[in-house]
Amino acid sequence: MADVVTLTVAEVIVETADARSIVFTIPEGHQAAFAYAPGQFLTLRIPSDRTGSVARCYSLSSAPYEGRVQVTVKRTGYGSGWVCEELRVGAEIDVLPPAGVFVASSLDRDFLLLAAGSGITPVMSILKSALRHGTGQVVLVYANRDEASVIFARELAELVTQHPGRLTVVHWIESLQGLPSARMLETLAAPYRGRDAYLCGPAPFMAAARTALTVLGVPRERVHVEKFHSLTGNPFEQTPEPVAAGSETARLTVDLDGETHTVAWPRQRKLLDHLLAEGLDAPYSCREGQCSACACRLVSGEVKMLNNEVPDAEDLADGIVWPASRCPVTDEVSVSYE
Ligand SMILES: Cc1cc2nc3c(=O)[nH]c(=O)nc-3n(C[C@H](O)[C@H](O)[C@H](O)COP(=O)(O)OP(=O)(O)OC[C@H]3O[C@@H](n4cnc5c(N)ncnc54)[C@H](O)[C@@H]3O)c2cc1C
Repeated sequence: MADVVTLTVAEVIVETADARSIVFTIPEGHQAAFAYAPGQFLTLRIPSDRTGSVARCYSLSSAPYEGRVQVTVKRTGYGSGWVCEELRVGAEIDVLPPAGVFVASSLDRDFLLLAAGSGITPVMSILKSALRHGTGQVVLVYANRDEASVIFARELAELVTQHPGRLTVVHWIESLQGLPSARMLETLAAPYRGRDAYLCGPAPFMAAARTALTVLGVPRERVHVEKFHSLTGNPFEQTPEPVAAGSETARLTVDLDGETHTVAWPRQRKLLDHLLAEGLDAPYSCREGQCSACACRLVSGEVKMLNNEVPDAEDLADGIVWPASRCPVTDEVSVSYE
C-alpha cells in the first residue's frame, strides 16, 4: 500500500496505569504527509501471530504547534494492549498518515468540549490548538471512572493556570458522582449551548451527551462526534477487487481538490476503490467506511452500501456517504469532497 510509512518510536509516556502516549519520529521526506489538523488520527499496523496484523486507529493527542506526532492509547483489548506493552523507544511500526474529519473549521470560536476516558485524546489536540491559535473561550467537561484514570490531569491544570480567562475544565469523577447522565450533562452544558460542541468517549457517554445537546437545542451542524471502535478489516492487507472486463458502468462526477472529474464507474466496484484506481487522490484510512476519513457528500443520484455498517441517520439526512463501501444504483451519480 503506497501510503504506509514506517515510523520510529521516539518516546513512550506513562499517562495512567492503563494509558500510554507514544511519540513518533517522522522519517525524512514524509513530514508533509504527517502534517495534521487537531482532531485527526493515525492508523497503526499492529502485529499479530494469529492474523499477521490488525489495524487500529489512534487519535493524535499532540497539537501541530507542539512539533510532535503523538497518540495516546488506553489498554482495553488486543491491539491497545500490544501498543501499551510492546512498543518501546526505537521500535518501528507501519502507520497510515493522519486522516479524519473530527476537526474544527475554525479555531477562532468558543468551544464546548465533552470527553470521557480515552476520548480526551482528539479533544486535547483541539483544546490546545484553540488556546494557542484562537481567541475564543474553551470549556471542557471531562468524565472519568476515578481520579487515577484521568489522562492529562496535570497538563490540563497547567493550561487552566496559563489561560485563566479562557479555559474552564469541569472534571466528572464517576466513583464520586456516579455516571454522567444526559440530565447532568444538560445542566453542565446549558450555559454554553451557543457554542460548537465536540464529543468523544465511550458509546453510553456519547449517547447521553447527544441527548443533552439535543434537549438544549444545539443544531446538528454544530455537534461534532468522534466514535472510537476497532476496524474489522485491515487496510494494510487489502487490495482492490479486480473488475471483470465489459462490466456495466454508471457515470460518476466527482468534485475533488477544486477540480471536477467525470469517469465511468463499474457497478460492482466500491467508489473509493474506483477513485484510487482512476488515480484520484481521494482521502481514506480504513478503506471500510468505518473511520470517517473517506466521507464525501452525495450531490445527486443514489448509491448502496456493500457491507453491514450501520449508517448514522443524521449523516444520511445530511447527504454524507462513505465511499469505501458504496456502489452505484442510478446511472448517474455525483459526489463532492469540497
Ligand atoms: C477514529 C478513531 C480514533 C480512535 N482513537 C483512539 C485513541 O486516541 N485512543 C484509544 O485508546 N483508542 C482510540 N480508538 C479506539 C481504538 O482504535 C481501538 O478500537 C481500541 O484501542 C480497542 O482496540 P483493541 O484491539 O485493544 O480491543 P478490541 O478491538 O476489543 O480487541 C479485541 C479484538 O481483537 C481480536 N484479537 C484478539 N487477539 C488477537 C490476536 N492475537 N490477533 C488478532 N486479533 C486478535 C479479537 O478477536 C477481537 O476482535 C479510536 C478509534 C477510532 C475509529
